[in-house]
Amino acid sequence: MSENKDFLRAIVDEDLKSGKYNEVITRFPPEPNGFPHIGHAKSICINFGIARDFNGTCNLRMDDTNPTKEDTKYVEALKDAVQWLGFDWGENVYFTSDYFDKIYDYAIKLIKMGKAYVDSINEEQMRELRGTVTSAGTRSEYANRTIEENLELIERMKNGEFKDGEHVLRAKIDMSAANMKMRDPLLYRIRHAHHFRTEDKWCIYPMYDFAHCLSDYIEGVSHSICTLEFENNRDIYNWVLDTLGLELPRPYQHEFARLGINYTVMSKRKLLELVDGKYVSGWDDPRMPTIAGYKRRGYTKESILNFCDQIGIAKANSMVDVAQLEFCIRDDLNKKVPRVMAVLDPLKVTITNYEGSEEIDAPYYPHDVPKEGSRKIPFSNELYIERDDFNENPPKGYFRLTPEQPVRLRHGFIITCKEVIKDENGNIVEIKAVYHPDSKSGSDTSGIKVKSAIQWLSAKEAKTVEVRLYDRLYSCEAPDGLEDLNKNSLKVIKNALIEPAVISEKPDERFQFERQGYFYADPIDYTNEKPVFNKIVGLKDSWAKKTESEQPKAKTEVKVQAKKEQVVGSEVAMNDEQKALFEKYTNEYKLNTEISNILARDEKLSSFYEEALVELNSPVSIANIVVTEVARELKEKEANELKFTSKQIAQLVKIMDDGTISSKIAKQIFEEMVKSGDNPSKIVEDKGLVQISDPSVISPIIDEVIAKNPDNVEKFKAGNNKLLGFFVGQVLKATGGKANPQVVNQLVAQKLK
Ligand code: ATP
Ligand code: MG
Repeated sequence: MSENKDFLRAIVDEDLKSGKYNEVITRFPPEPNGFPHIGHAKSICINFGIARDFNGTCNLRMDDTNPTKEDTKYVEALKDAVQWLGFDWGENVYFTSDYFDKIYDYAIKLIKMGKAYVDSINEEQMRELRGTVTSAGTRSEYANRTIEENLELIERMKNGEFKDGEHVLRAKIDMSAANMKMRDPLLYRIRHAHHFRTEDKWCIYPMYDFAHCLSDYIEGVSHSICTLEFENNRDIYNWVLDTLGLELPRPYQHEFARLGINYTVMSKRKLLELVDGKYVSGWDDPRMPTIAGYKRRGYTKESILNFCDQIGIAKANSMVDVAQLEFCIRDDLNKKVPRVMAVLDPLKVTITNYEGSEEIDAPYYPHDVPKEGSRKIPFSNELYIERDDFNENPPKGYFRLTPEQPVRLRHGFIITCKEVIKDENGNIVEIKAVYHPDSKSGSDTSGIKVKSAIQWLSAKEAKTVEVRLYDRLYSCEAPDGLEDLNKNSLKVIKNALIEPAVISEKPDERFQFERQGYFYADPIDYTNEKPVFNKIVGLKDSWAKKTESEQPKAKTEVKVQAKKEQVVGSEVAMNDEQKALFEKYTNEYKLNTEISNILARDEKLSSFYEEALVELNSPVSIANIVVTEVARELKEKEANELKFTSKQIAQLVKIMDDGTISSKIAKQIFEEMVKSGDNPSKIVEDKGLVQISDPSVISPIIDEVIAKNPDNVEKFKAGNNKLLGFFVGQVLKATGGKANPQVVNQLVAQKLK
């Protein structure tokens, strides 16, 4: 293992050295409710990778506690992904459902200790009693039930005597805990649903917070590694194990930052929406960020592993540029795959001074001379070249074939255009050309100068293939939903042409089609009669090119560079100064560790932050906006290049803190400040963005929403509490996000009573 350990490996190392554990056991615990994506690949690499590095084991465990969403096909996809990435889970795949009996026994134990109770209030009452971040909650009256009553009720819940939602089992912890998750969290709920493994044996199911820590304990896990959003769940994790008296070697939870990639959605729920809505051909559509999708598209496992390695393990969430993943696959294939020629948009070229046919020997690895392997390319008087490799009126810097400019046929001869044939509409249908017999590549004595070499095929021998060109599935950097889909993410070319040698090879292969990109024989649709190739990735980052000036396309070799600045480094130790800041931020300013970490490590951010604090003493709110919005701007610029100042950020936070604007509107104002540098109060005034908190203004809007949605009102009254959110959302939308959400919440709840 390298000297430079990431922070998780440092913890594991320390725990082994101190004798806390004798062996390392990790686990990868997906819920089988969708195909695994590239974020899961990161988690797989971390969990299996750590086990491997410390000679431990990593369990593959299906976290199957939600019967309505899970399925065996997802279990198979998860197994396939882990295997494909080259990891081994040993003899068994584990399932949380295998522990349902044991978990139930632990619940009984908690009840007997007076540490859990059956509650019978509904979801909404529960939400109300939970309190808020600033005010303590109130315990439900049912918390006073005796142990005997609780034992009887849980037994009856288990036996199916109650309907969904009628009762729940809750831990008795602390209704005034600062961590809201600790306010008597749910342990069990009633779900009359068929489970894909336990079938109809159970109608109560343990919640994640109860099942997960116990499953870890049952399996003897030492390090339970999860993503940052579970940071607040760690207290429950420890409470359950401690209260039940489960001692070392009991597991402890550690969090790392989840992977986010721009132009990509990475939630199984949203991916399922694409599959169900047929926006893609399935979970393995080559445009999907799923392992199955990458695999089908032609990504190699090495490229994915390399990517996961490059992005490292950090404690702060960040966004990785998708170009980095594309770089990894390009980098891998560049070294490995043979180069061949294909023509996607054929233009006929007749060589008027040649008859008969011959074969030209061409190396598969022309860029890597010691690497052997070649094939024969047929040459004849009827050829195809790429339509845009000929230009009658070439722009400056056009290096390919023109009426005046000869060009080399890659590996072959130089040709000169003699005549351009057009149809009645003026479209070019054929080029008549001559070839220069003494110009053959490798033994050229012609003395003719050309500026580039283009791909070509002999018409008679070329094979017709289908080529599927993929582009990014989303056209915007931070996609949210269906409206952000890139409408041109798939282009199918039915009649592309390719060298015959490619077809005679076995399908499971990748090629570089020279000057076009990397391609992979589609593992599902490819047949020898109808070959299909997927474009894996282009030769260079075409999205980056769009912003740069148009470059001539003549070069056959393009050098690519890793976008180093986008590599999220693995966590390194803080220096003394950073440590002191971190201490101040967590202890004095009460910022959470994640935010303190980001600020302390970034001098530009921390000095901006400190300046804003001088203007306004609101450390938490200012920190929030500095590590998100401001950080985004400071990534590319220095503070003195920004249009807005720290003072203005303080002003923005002030009107947000005092309720003049909502936090949603604050974001909108911020965007405006970035562009214009105007004061936030001016923007608020100009655009009429003041938050509406007056019930007499909001009330009629709510009435309107209610009147428009009689069906949902009925469903709500019949007990579908989730619809409260729907109504609130509609009202906020109707006010352009200006209504005060708390006021709306209260009013909607009142009106729907
Ligand atoms: P999603 O939100 O996409 O549905 P999830 O977190 O619900 O993902 P699980 O199947 O519960 O998915 O996750 C299995 C493991 O993979 C968990 O340990 C989770 O933390 C990890 N994981 C999921 N998404 C990411 C990600 N984007 N980056 C890193 N790890 C992830
Ligand atoms: Mg989930």
